[in-house]
Amino acid sequence: MTVTSQSRSEIFNRRADETLRSLRDGGQYKRLQMIEGPMDATIRLRDHGEVVCLCSNNYLGLANHPDVVRSGIEGIRRYGGGTASVRFICGTFECHEVLENTIAEFLGVEAAYTFVSCWTATEAVFPTLCEPGDLIVSDELNHACIIDSMRLATAMKRGVKKNVFSHGNLDALRAVLDQARADPEVTGAIWVVTDGVFSMEGDIADLPGLRAACDEYGALLVVDDSHGTGVMGPTGRGTHEHYGMAGADIDFFTGTLGKALGGAAGGYVAGSKRGIELLVQRARPTLFTNALPTTVACSAETAIRVLMNEPQRVQKLRDNVAYARKGIAAVGFEVLESPTAICPIIVGDTARAIAMSNRLLEMGVFVIGFGYPVVPEGTARLRVQISAAHEREHLDRLFDALRRLKADMN
Ligand SMILES: *Cc1c(COP(=O)(O)O)cnc(C)c1O
Repeated sequence: MTVTSQSRSEIFNRRADETLRSLRDGGQYKRLQMIEGPMDATIRLRDHGEVVCLCSNNYLGLANHPDVVRSGIEGIRRYGGGTASVRFICGTFECHEVLENTIAEFLGVEAAYTFVSCWTATEAVFPTLCEPGDLIVSDELNHACIIDSMRLATAMKRGVKKNVFSHGNLDALRAVLDQARADPEVTGAIWVVTDGVFSMEGDIADLPGLRAACDEYGALLVVDDSHGTGVMGPTGRGTHEHYGMAGADIDFFTGTLGKALGGAAGGYVAGSKRGIELLVQRARPTLFTNALPTTVACSAETAIRVLMNEPQRVQKLRDNVAYARKGIAAVGFEVLESPTAICPIIVGDTARAIAMSNRLLEMGVFVIGFGYPVVPEGTARLRVQISAAHEREHLDRLFDALRRLKADMN
């Protein structure tokens, strides 16, 4: 069959329409909710009015903190919108340096470097730091940005290998590392990479176990702690602090400024001076794209300062999480146990999870339902995310809504 120019020009349109239709038919079509004011414990949603927000990663309530907002405004006043340049030409302001020093201090590592998002930061790591003969080993539930970074590294540099171990399974990791020992093609460095906190389960990586396995095989450990930073450990340093580990026990961190640390956007890589230096010199997601906006560099730096000065925010978050878990269970829902601020309520069926989250929204409680293919079939869930911005009354509104939902369902 020959393809005429005319029919070829129609190919994309038809394909796009079909895909969009099948998403709608399958109940997977995403409708964007419009927020009409700042992120906080409660928010204004277009068409829904004021609702309790339980689906943001604003874990410490810093997104609308007056000092964080003020710093962003001062940043744009002082530096203007930006430099219209990439970092290495004429795109680095003093506020970038200050923020990067603060991130390194906060995590207790030698150096840090920022990118426009954690996605971008993570995409810089493996394609830049790996060379042929290296092996990257990943937890099967790692974030999509880690998966894509590995794909890029193996596509860009032939001879970089990758492998996966089953979620949180140190024996499976050791089996992969044993295999690598016997593999004549693995002549270089070995990189083990994990999320600190896994976003759909709310569980955490066994960092001491991973560190021990890495040491045994001479591997480097990379932790993306986007959901752990500001949340885990007595002072919110992250999942390593939860285990009593030092920042220097992790070879490289990646993290986001778009969750607990101000909530705007931005990400970083943190670790050894030489690793960061190599990224500054060679990473394509900094050589060919602009810096973090000044507003964000300034507001995120203040967010980290607020966190360092007010560790009680982390304790308030922890108290809220304990209160929420107890309250959800008391209503009769099954909430996955974990030490994080993510409380998944397993409901099974995808359509049911979506219907439940719609009903909750009608009752003024904003919680998102996740189903297949984001999570395995049959494990659809409502993902409740707790913040230090919440007061007991907000969580009580969640329990009331869940109680009514339960009554509706019976
Ligand atoms: C949220 C998240 C990201 C993405 O962060 P951005 O800064 O928004 O790109 C990356 N990794 C993990 C593990 C995350 O949870």
